[in-house]
Amino acid sequence: MIKPTMAFVSFKDITVEFLKKNNIDAILLDVDNTVSPPSSKKIYDGVEEWLDEIKKSGIEVIICSNNFRKRVYPFAKSVGLDCVAMSLKPLPFGFIRAEKKLSVKPKNALVIGDQIFTDILGAKLAGMKSALLVPQSPDKGKTIKLRRKLELPMRKKLYGEDYLSKYNLLERDDKK
Ligand SMILES: [Mg+2]
Repeated sequence: MIKPTMAFVSFKDITVEFLKKNNIDAILLDVDNTVSPPSSKKIYDGVEEWLDEIKKSGIEVIICSNNFRKRVYPFAKSVGLDCVAMSLKPLPFGFIRAEKKLSVKPKNALVIGDQIFTDILGAKLAGMKSALLVPQSPDKGKTIKLRRKLELPMRKKLYGEDYLSKYNLLERDDKK
């Protein structure tokens, strides 16, 4: 249930060519720690260029975040995308709402996110494909740190221990 369809380090590794080859018509994109530092107005380097390439190819993109409207709406607007906020992942309702907005078949939809117990599990429950990323910023808060601990065995399987230590994921804390 918690194994993603695919795993990458960064959104940048997911190319249009790859998406086309895997029959992906739409991307349901997480925000925090996927394309933006958590609750920050900043966007990771390269996000806008990556989104431009995908939009040009005809693949649709919609933001799907568990964060509040006041966080998600301005972010989605800043990158020119429609969105579903407070999507209650891993419950599938937010993804289903996004799927209806785009009129895409679940099997042709790809959820991209950094959390196994929200993004990946939610995708599975909605019958969609999923791509797990390495979280790009430090975690803040006890709940997320606990979830990262629970993610570790699956991440070790997917990425290998050496890889995770390179990204400082084995001992994540919020001091850095
Ligand atoms: Mg996230």
